[in-house]
Formats: sequence, structure tokens, C-alpha cells
Amino acid sequence: TLLPSPSSLDIVRTEIEHRNPAQPEFHQAVREVLETLAPVLAARPEYAEPGLVERLCEPERQIIFRVPWQDDHGRVHVNRGFRVEFNSALGPYKGGLRFHPSVNLGIVKFLGFEQIFKNALTGLGIGGGKGGSDFDPHGRSDTEVMRFCQSFMTELYRHIGEHTDVPAGDIGVGTREIGYLFGQYRRITNRWESGVLTGKGPHWGGSLIRPEATGYGNVLFAAEMLRVRGEDLEGRTAVVSGSGNVAIYTIEKLLALGANPLTCSDSSGYVVDDKGIDLDLLKQVKEVERGRISTYAERRGGSARFVSGGRVWDVPADVALPAATQNELDENDAATLVRNGVKAVSEGANMPTTPQAVHLFQRAGVAFGPGKAANAGGVAVSALEMAQNASRTAWGAARVEEELARIMADIHTTCHETAERYGFPGDYVTGANIAGFERVADAMLAQGVI
Ligand code: GLU
Repeated sequence: TLLPSPSSLDIVRTEIEHRNPAQPEFHQAVREVLETLAPVLAARPEYAEPGLVERLCEPERQIIFRVPWQDDHGRVHVNRGFRVEFNSALGPYKGGLRFHPSVNLGIVKFLGFEQIFKNALTGLGIGGGKGGSDFDPHGRSDTEVMRFCQSFMTELYRHIGEHTDVPAGDIGVGTREIGYLFGQYRRITNRWESGVLTGKGPHWGGSLIRPEATGYGNVLFAAEMLRVRGEDLEGRTAVVSGSGNVAIYTIEKLLALGANPLTCSDSSGYVVDDKGIDLDLLKQVKEVERGRISTYAERRGGSARFVSGGRVWDVPADVALPAATQNELDENDAATLVRNGVKAVSEGANMPTTPQAVHLFQRAGVAFGPGKAANAGGVAVSALEMAQNASRTAWGAARVEEELARIMADIHTTCHETAERYGFPGDYVTGANIAGFERVADAMLAQGVI
């Protein structure tokens, strides 16, 4: 039928769930987008063309491969590798690699699906993809991580390329892993193809500000949401979850803007620091020593304590910035935050807030920035890294940061205006989904049924 209606989108969603059994995170991500598309399908009949939404929800290609590797004692391990090349209507597939024991096809598909819209919102000509492995880098030596990365790339290299598919980091994949992956790609292909991976080291083709970009961008997005409400971050308290790259640079930017980040966390619990997180100590513990967050509290002394097993959302604050992983903030957490007077929530991680929690924030009038928009700064600077690689130049940090700030402000404006245009003022979820969808859908329609 050409007549779009919520019920026709429901039928599509049911079909997608039926065809992709046992992938709850993928279902959740698809449902969240389809739920917001009815108004745009009603307003723009070309988008209701049969098959368009179905094509958007089916990855162009899904690659699953064996990754055998030997640990330091010579024992052989077998992990599973994934790359889901979801949509290339706007550019080469682009998205990170996640190394974490929870990784499976459904997780990679949810992340790849989100990436399509996020990347479209950056306006930088990148398609959507994602990959990873159920490999757990925790407690592994550098040489074990290196051998794993080499084995992973020995299969992945045939599927990627600077004009084809450009992986980067995500949970468990940072500059160290990108280095080992890049080295193996270079050796197998005998090509210095810097644009094949982003997140490289600054002396071998990486962009300055790439490590900072996701966290910085998320704080800038939160600041924009507050600005349109006549407020700012100065003097505000913030709760941040996670203690990886996104969390660390979220905290750094909060401090730079005069806000007071109170928390960070890892899988064992969280730290609350009444004086505000000490950034140098956090970096020492997490980046240099690759240690646990409880060590931060032990060394910090008086102002900080470690809460084993708890969630940072119990700590009252003006702003909440989930920067750990999917579905880490549920309805109960949202109720606690709202009760404690939270004004803005902005997603540094991908889909960290459950759908029920999102609705609760929106009903309570809290400014809510969805990850697709709020955490797009990371992949945006990855696209800037590709631009630098293609032109064989390296930009200064100030230039990259300026571009990042402009892109985040643009994304905010786009989401805000799109939401308003469709009659959902202040609803960044609807704004981000519709604006991202419009860009990808226009390109897919122009390029025909492929
Ligand atoms: N993993 C990041 C994300 O979720 C960055 C991807 C990239 O830089 O390609 O957007």
C-alpha cells in the first residue's frame, strides 16, 4: 500500500522481527526508529514507496568469520568476528569495531542500524556499518591482543577499503587495537591506505581530537539543548557512567565548561567524588594502567568513594550523560533522576537508555538527546580523519575542534528544527530519526532499487 499509517509500519516491524529471531537489541533499535516515522511517511508520499523501509532495515551485507588465535601459553582460542555493512547510500560503510564478550550478530546489527542515521546526521558522506568480536581484551597481554587483531584482520581485510568500508574503534577497541589492525592490513595488502581505518595514532595518519571527539561532542550537544531553554552548563553537577574513552572526554569537556562531573563507573560499580572527578587521576588509572575504577577511589581518598555494584543514576545531578553501554539506564533509574531534578540527559553511548526510560524523561519535560545525534561527534571526526588522509594533510587541533563544534551545533539545529516542523517541538528523538531518515531515504530513492 502507498498509504502510510502507523499500522503499516507495525506490519513492517513485525516482519523484521520475525525474520531476525533472537535479536532483541536490533528489534529495539528498529522499533524506536519506525515508531517516529509515521508523520514523515504521511507528509512525503515518496517515502511510503513499497519496500523502502524494508530495504533500510535489511543490511546490504553481513559477514561472520572465525578468528583463531594463540594466547601467551600457546593455547588456541576461537572467537567469532562480525562486520555488518548496513547501508552505503550516502558513502562507504562507516562505523566502529566492538570487542566485548557480549557481542553477537544482533548487537552488531543494532549498532549498524543506529550508525546509518547518525552518520547521515553528520552530513559528511558516510554510510552505516559496524563490526566486532566476542573477544574479551580484559586481562589479555599486549601480545595476545596483537595476535587477536592480526587474525581478525586476516579475514576482515578483504571486505574493507577506503572507498568501501572504513572501521574504527568502539568498546574494547582504541588506538592500540587500531594500530595492530592497521599494521596487519598494510602487511597483507602492501598498501599505505591510511583511509581504511580511523582512530589511528596522530603520527601515522590519525586525526587530532579523534579520541576526545565523542565525549566532547556529547557535552556540546547537551550544552545546546540547555541553551535553547535559556540555561547553560556552568556550575551544573553531572553524573557520567562508564570510564572508557567516551566517559573520560565527557568529563574533560564538562570541567572545561565549568560543570562539575561527580561520577564514573565500570562493570564492578561506580565512583562518586564530592569534589568532582580528578581527571588526571582518572586518566592515570584507566588509560595508563588499564586498571579498575575502584583504584581511583582508593587513591583519591577523602572526597571519593567506590560503590560496589551500584548505578551512578542514584546520585542527584542536573545533567546525566550515559557513556557506558546499551540499556544501562532503565525506567527506575529515570524515575530517580527525574525525582532528583535532572534537567538534561544526553547519550554518549549507543542506546544506553531503555525505551521506557526515554518516554519517562520526555513526559517529565527533561531535554533528552538521543545517541544518534548526541554522540555523532566521534564518527564525524572520523570522517574528518578520512578527509585529511585523502588530501595527505594533518590539521591542527584547533581546526578539528572548531569543525567538531560546528558539526554538533548543526546536528542540534537540524534535529530541533525537524522536530518542530513535524509538530513535536523539543523532541530530539523524533527530530534525529526523521532528519537522518530523510537524508538516507532521498539517496536510496535517487539511486533506484538496489
Ligand atoms: N564507534 C563510534 C560510534 O559509535 C565511532 C565510529 C567511527 O568513528 O567510525 O559512532
